[in-house]
Amino acid sequence: MKYCRFQTPAGPQYGEIVERAGTLRIERLLPPFEEDPGAKLASGPFEPLPLTEAQLLAPVVPSKIVCIGRNYREHAAELGNEVPKEPLIFLKAPSAVIAEGDAIRIPPQSRRVDFEGELAVVIGRRATRIGAGEDVRPYIRGYTIVNDVTARDLQKSDGQWSRAKGFDTFCPMGPMVTDEIDPAAGVTVETRLNGQMKQHGTTLDFIFDIPALLRYITAAMTLLPGDVIPTGTPAGVAPMQPGDRVEVSVEGIGSLANPIAG
Ligand code: MG
Repeated sequence: MKYCRFQTPAGPQYGEIVERAGTLRIERLLPPFEEDPGAKLASGPFEPLPLTEAQLLAPVVPSKIVCIGRNYREHAAELGNEVPKEPLIFLKAPSAVIAEGDAIRIPPQSRRVDFEGELAVVIGRRATRIGAGEDVRPYIRGYTIVNDVTARDLQKSDGQWSRAKGFDTFCPMGPMVTDEIDPAAGVTVETRLNGQMKQHGTTLDFIFDIPALLRYITAAMTLLPGDVIPTGTPAGVAPMQPGDRVEVSVEGIGSLANPIAG
């Protein structure tokens, strides 16, 4: 199933997305997920809506965003880093989340703000200390797209990454969540800046696969429904300027496009 979250006069709603004659439509409303208690299922009939006419919100309301650093060899190399021996994790502020179409704002503190296009796992069930032989699939609700926007200069100068990764608007997410892809079989992750291809990777090149990542994270911290795990970015990161448009595409999910503002 594919679903999105969108704004209506009755507040945020979740909708199942179905393709009809080549057009993606929100076909029916879904009950809100537990991590979004402020959302209430609208009553009454629902008229199907083309996805392009919906006012999309970020599809998930995470309690935390646990990112993976350096999960593609070529990206580790381009920033002059070793390939990690175990997953490198860091937290991104949930307050940084914005939706498809919302503007990424370049903060005055930074002189270099990069895109990082990423496939992201959405957690569906509380997960603590997932066992070595345990199937991780029941914990996964689906997958979405995240742009792990990064103030590269501050990432270096601060020594740790909370500020560089956590500015408001630095976590574009969406446009939908799907459980219809299989990253283990390989999905393509691409980023375009002003229409020009900058990143082109495949999840087949992960250093650590998704089961390994979820075991590593849940050995330290409990993952809750709605938590989001961006799985790292392929090579090709580059800076963005006000007036640019960045678009991250993941095969089988769609595209997440955002303008850059000063
Ligand atoms: Mg990243």
